[in-house]
Amino acid sequence: VDPADSLVHALRRSVTEAPDRTFLAYFDARLTYREVDELSDSVAAHLAARGLERGDRVAVLLQNSPHFVLAVLGAWKAGATVVPVNPMYKSAEVAHVLRDGEVAALICSDRAWESYLRGTADGSPVRIVLTGCESDFQTRNDARVLTFERLPQAPDADDLVAVARQGGKAPEGRDPRPGDIALISYTSGTSGTPKGATNTHANIMYNAERQRTGLALPEAPVYYALAPLFHITGMVCQFGAGLNSAGTLVLTYRFEPGVVLEAFAEHRPHYTVGPATAFMALAAHPDVTPEHFASFANISSGGAPLPPALMEKFRAGFGPYIRNGYGLTECTAPCASVPPELEAPVDPVSGTLAVGVPGADTVVRIVDDAGEEVPFGEQGEIVVRGPQVVPGYWRSPEATAETFPDGELRTGDIGFMDEQGWLYVVDRKKDMINASGFKVWPREVEDVLYTHPAVREAAVVGVPDGYRGETVKAYISLRPGADTDPGALAAYCKERLAAYKYPRQVEILPDLPKTASGKILRRELRSRVQDVQNRSDDSQ
Ligand code: ATP
Repeated sequence: VDPADSLVHALRRSVTEAPDRTFLAYFDARLTYREVDELSDSVAAHLAARGLERGDRVAVLLQNSPHFVLAVLGAWKAGATVVPVNPMYKSAEVAHVLRDGEVAALICSDRAWESYLRGTADGSPVRIVLTGCESDFQTRNDARVLTFERLPQAPDADDLVAVARQGGKAPEGRDPRPGDIALISYTSGTSGTPKGATNTHANIMYNAERQRTGLALPEAPVYYALAPLFHITGMVCQFGAGLNSAGTLVLTYRFEPGVVLEAFAEHRPHYTVGPATAFMALAAHPDVTPEHFASFANISSGGAPLPPALMEKFRAGFGPYIRNGYGLTECTAPCASVPPELEAPVDPVSGTLAVGVPGADTVVRIVDDAGEEVPFGEQGEIVVRGPQVVPGYWRSPEATAETFPDGELRTGDIGFMDEQGWLYVVDRKKDMINASGFKVWPREVEDVLYTHPAVREAAVVGVPDGYRGETVKAYISLRPGADTDPGALAAYCKERLAAYKYPRQVEILPDLPKTASGKILRRELRSRVQDVQNRSDDSQ
């Protein structure tokens, strides 16, 4: 495989190699490689016939279903750039992406179109709308009847399934070139308005190829899509790597622990990747058994911190070792991972689990504020150079110059590297808590909280404090049936952390807020603090 290739070429190779192998499994529906090739050709032909040109943008707002895959491959075959849109976005967020991306075509579910997109798309440059039958499901039984069948279409849009089935060849001369922008991936915007990272086909293929060769999976591997496909981890490490390995991709619409466990039992997957919170949710499900994980050759955690205590609890309870991996949208998912023959070390001082080692062609450096490299073991900002680093942000030369000086990605993460080359991520630069001038990294406190048997989820933020400027606050959700209280949790941390680090405030919530990809949202917890603060200011 030529890594400077594209997933469209990977699809054609897989069709030649294994035309009748199941590529997509979705509840009761199965689509082979040949079928996906034909159906996506038809989508491409339709888009071109409706006037879509090479380089135009196609927004895809769908959950994990075959429609997503047909939409993306169809758009790429028509020479377009795909703009994946988070289905959890509200109208205003979608509107921003449609306008900023100058999107020519939108592919979404009937339900999304009817319930909130119609007006949004009307005011944007969107010319072509395709809707599909993918609709939300509330219960497992609803999920079972969601097969690849046509449902009544939105009146003023073309029906994706009908379009896919009408037949037709992808237009000639539109095949993606390695340097073309495959995706504009909008970041979740924790640091201001969302910016679109421009992942090229070469960026994607480099990581899809590393995932194919670096995971020690069997021939014709079965991938389970735990992460959402619209997110770069799902797109590259599940859809991209699965397709590039001529494997089977199991899709179940969206994360629902009971449905996921049933899919594990039915399809016996070899690989999946998701945030630590997803594995915690699976581990807490009443039906879970070690047998559910017996088929896995490799399980990775990606896109968010993996608390070492959680990794060990999971291994003790269910068998598999969760392999850490570090990446960002701006480097097309992973840039460091734990090789299959090794286990990540835990730093003896901070208790942090290493995220992995950089890939062969990837250079990771740790630099100080002046941009100078720091010695092994010392903390600084993580910067990355490699074939997976995107060329920049979509139409944002200033943000591009700031984040990618000389083409090197400044991650905004603080970390260090040991002498063996293991990379450790301490935390995000902007999440640092400054308590009376002492630096507190929320991750370290969270890692301690995760060692407590009652804790299911933990997130630590800085809250305003009249005396210290900022102080440490922990938000916790408990494991089912666990019995503890905020005072006991604070005392537990106090025994294990320096006096300035332990949480002075602990609040227990039923669940912590998360992104669609399952990451705990510290920013929402911070704004929750702000709200309370504002309300108390008002009442004074
Ligand atoms: P935004 O960039 O807008 O804040 P986001 O957090 O969703 O959005 P992503 O590109 O999905 O952006 O996430 C990348 C970040 O996730 C990294 O910068 C890092 O902070 C964190 N991260 C990823 N993998 C790990 C890991 N293994 N350990 C610790 N943190 C990780």
